[in-house]
Amino acid sequence: MALMIGEECIACDACVAVCPNDAISQGDPIYIINPNLCTECVGVSAEPQCALLCPVDCIIADPEYEETHEELLEKCHRLHPD
Ligand code: SF4
Ligand code: SF4
Repeated sequence: MALMIGEECIACDACVAVCPNDAISQGDPIYIINPNLCTECVGVSAEPQCALLCPVDCIIADPEYEETHEELLEKCHRLHPD
């Protein structure tokens, strides 16, 4: 399941640099996660790095993009073939 950023986002920019897939970008007014690039950090880290450091805990699961662990791992391998 991809993650999404909620309205509580204060646009602090902290999450962008930690995403291994460049899935987060600045939106207007809040930041956004590209569900095609978000793997919940599966295959790279044990926990979603963006959600871990968000100061207002506004990064949550996106119910529109449900994926199994295997699907997320496959996505990770597609994004990082090496
Ligand atoms: Fe990027 Fe991981 Fe956050 Fe998804 S969960 S947006 S892959 S840092
Ligand atoms: Fe928004 Fe949280 Fe990302 Fe900061 S870390 S830009 S508050 S989603």
